[in-house]
Amino acid sequence: MIRPIQPFAKPITVARPALPPLQDFCRGLETIWERAWLTNDGPLVQQFRQNLLRYLRAAHGSLFTNGTLALQIGLQALGISGDVITTPFTFVATSHALFWNKLRPVFVDIEPKYYSIDPDLVEAAITPWTSAILAVHVYGQPCQLKALERIARKHGLKLLYDAAHAFGVQVDGQPIGSFGDMSMFSFHATKVFHSIEGGMLVFRDPALQARLDYLKNFGFENETEVLLPGTNAKMTEFQALMGALLLDRIEEMINARRTLTEHYRARLGSIPGIRLTAPARSGVTQNYAYMNIEVEPDTFGMGRDQLYEQLRVYNVLARRYFYPIIPDFPCYRTMFAGIRLPVARAVADRILTLPLYSDLCMDDVDRICDMVESCHHRPDRHMPAERLTGREVGLSA
Ligand SMILES: *Cc1c(COP(=O)(O)O)cnc(C)c1O
Repeated sequence: MIRPIQPFAKPITVARPALPPLQDFCRGLETIWERAWLTNDGPLVQQFRQNLLRYLRAAHGSLFTNGTLALQIGLQALGISGDVITTPFTFVATSHALFWNKLRPVFVDIEPKYYSIDPDLVEAAITPWTSAILAVHVYGQPCQLKALERIARKHGLKLLYDAAHAFGVQVDGQPIGSFGDMSMFSFHATKVFHSIEGGMLVFRDPALQARLDYLKNFGFENETEVLLPGTNAKMTEFQALMGALLLDRIEEMINARRTLTEHYRARLGSIPGIRLTAPARSGVTQNYAYMNIEVEPDTFGMGRDQLYEQLRVYNVLARRYFYPIIPDFPCYRTMFAGIRLPVARAVADRILTLPLYSDLCMDDVDRICDMVESCHHRPDRHMPAERLTGREVGLSA
């Protein structure tokens, strides 16, 4: 029996920023007001950095105003030049950061299980111009760490991870930021953990600390000396205040995500044509960053785009992360015309990210699952997306 579908009264977005109790934030604001120290490595930023290093179990780290600038500056600090092998299946910022450093992205295809860069293809793509690998722990699932490490060592390449999705993830008890030469975390409002906007680099070589800290502050050594042509990418006290309050609740927020994810998976796993991401590899402690499904049109009865449109009618704003793949964006299209990447393209055509955030309620997850289920059962499910309108809302099979 399929229950009649009532659309949500208010839109359910794919993500929703976690917020601390307002009075806690206001109390923090009062201390900022008293000090009148708003940015430039203030006391809250310094404390936040220490707490993050402890949480991430990292020896070295630098905070930034966002993850994209962190990545741009990290690439620059490592002195990377020429070609960088990377993934087409990620948020655009990953390859934008290469372009801002005049580096050429070399896109290689992903593996179909956890959607990260395929190490065999990475090795095959190495040329004398290759200087680094920039891999992404997409959706918080770790890349094939050992294989990438082996390839990077063998060919003398720097290995960077865009760990924007992977805050709090561990592999066999090792924190995710301990792999490779450098990892970037994003603390954007929509991520598992955030500081409104924000970013962090953790890295292996202690010599990078000073270089990164100069680069994000115009290269200033002191009032009269500028050592590097830096930029401005400093985190503010307000960001650190938000981040510190949320870091206190990180375990609780990830646990809530786990409970919601398990419920989604239990319900959606039995719907024909809905494919769940494989369970995490053993030894992986997840952060439940995204709730993804792959839609198999023939079995499900409608394609991903139709399901996406129908969910919109129900006021569920699912997102197609990541569609299209990076080289298909207008700004890159001509540069990468004819590039194949069959796995990334196939996944990008089937993937759908459903709403998930730590204070989403279980009843809402159930309603979203009912909606997906009803799309499978509906008799008119082969109708083109544009014909599915609000009029049909409330139909049951
Ligand atoms: C969010 C994100 C970024 C960019 O981080 P910002 O903090 O928003 O600049 C980079 N890469 C990936 C994979 C992301 O999801």
